[in-house]
Amino acid sequence: MNEKKSAIMPLALRRRKSDNFNQHLLNVPYDKEYNYLGIVFVLTLQFDITLRKSSALVREMNNYGVLKQGNLSANHRLSIWNTYFSSKLAYPLLALSLMNKTATKKVSSQIAMSVKRCLGLNQCLEKEKLYTWLYELTPKEKAEFSLLRTVKKLISADYRIENLEFFINKITSCSKEDISGYIDGKTKLNALKSKLLENRAHKEGISNGKPFETLCSSDLDWLRFSSKELDIFRWKGKLCSLCNQPLSTNHLKACMGTLKDRDDIKCRTGIEAIDLMEDPSLLNAKPASIKKSLKSYVAGRISKMIHSAGGKATL
Ligand SMILES: [Zn+2]
Repeated sequence: MNEKKSAIMPLALRRRKSDNFNQHLLNVPYDKEYNYLGIVFVLTLQFDITLRKSSALVREMNNYGVLKQGNLSANHRLSIWNTYFSSKLAYPLLALSLMNKTATKKVSSQIAMSVKRCLGLNQCLEKEKLYTWLYELTPKEKAEFSLLRTVKKLISADYRIENLEFFINKITSCSKEDISGYIDGKTKLNALKSKLLENRAHKEGISNGKPFETLCSSDLDWLRFSSKELDIFRWKGKLCSLCNQPLSTNHLKACMGTLKDRDDIKCRTGIEAIDLMEDPSLLNAKPASIKKSLKSYVAGRISKMIHSAGGKATL
């Protein structure tokens, strides 16, 4: 531990006049405010300053059109978002999740909302579903993994953690066996992350790893289709432009007007179009050399089907 760079920050629910910051512990000073990686930590763990700054940044990026440029793929937008917004919130969220459940939930929802805004997805799409289809950890899971990594580091460095149980109990994304497996050095953190992502994906019907590659605009259409995001708002109560029947993602799998596109998909990939439309990860079993082009072919077809059946109701 580097004493010169360190500080101890007491945490409390509210500020009191008697708070004493003139103390030292093993030469490490007490501090009432701590600026870490651009985040201002304060005694009461209100992250208003950081949240305000980050939100202003996203607003500015939107105002200057950075996130709206048509030629910017969703993947790019997501990584811009991750760099400027999400990373700034990861550490506060870690501390918050130890202190205040309600605030954690609120910040997590704000994060999910801005991811959806960034990708142009409906705000009512469930948070869990969003992260499952993006094949990403939720902010809360990310925070829990950071906590787990920190605990392991302290234990490996022979620091005794008095309230180890308290911290371990905060981690709900992994089973107790997995947590002790990691702390004992039997499992790697990446293996735990993959396991979590895979398990969650299976529940949503994603069978074979990351569903989308590039998240370019046709991939986004596919994501809208397979996550049923289109049914939430845009297609509700609308009729199919091709056959005048009620429009829905389920209808698109049976619509006569899109039969040829579905046949083309089957012909090109050897997989039933309906299965593929629901689970893009089925193509992950194809050889790497053709996987990418197959995925973009199918994505293009699905995008075409969505736009021709959806007509004016789409996007
Ligand atoms: Zn139809």
